[in-house]
Amino acid sequence: MQQALQRSSLVPRGFVVESAYYEGDKAVVVVRASGSVGLCPSCGTVSRRVHSRYRRRVTDLPLSGRIVELLVIARRFRCDAVLCGRQIFTERFAEGVLAPSARRTARLDSIVHHLGLALGGRPAAGFAKRLMLP
Ligand SMILES: [Zn+2]
Repeated sequence: MQQALQRSSLVPRGFVVESAYYEGDKAVVVVRASGSVGLCPSCGTVSRRVHSRYRRRVTDLPLSGRIVELLVIARRFRCDAVLCGRQIFTERFAEGVLAPSARRTARLDSIVHHLGLALGGRPAAGFAKRLMLP
């Protein structure tokens, strides 16, 4: 039985694929968070008021012999809590998917980490290069 390939199944959970294109030898996948609200990291208030959007580039697992870069369209939300000192915050992604200000997805970071532990610095770097893991 054949099953259709969902574009969102190729990227980490919690993301929706907007578009994808090749940029040189890289595949760039434009994604955004699937949720519609942000949670203030200071007070925990849920916010729907989007202040602005920005683009963030993170490397993900390779696909079909190409390095994959996620171009994340991330949002900044306004916190409406009266007593919260933070007025604007950037959206956070699910635990174990993408850490704040990380340059790699958690699943790629985990592989790189384990390669480093198993093989050590230089051999791990060489093997990671052969696996197309930057
Ligand atoms: Zn707040």
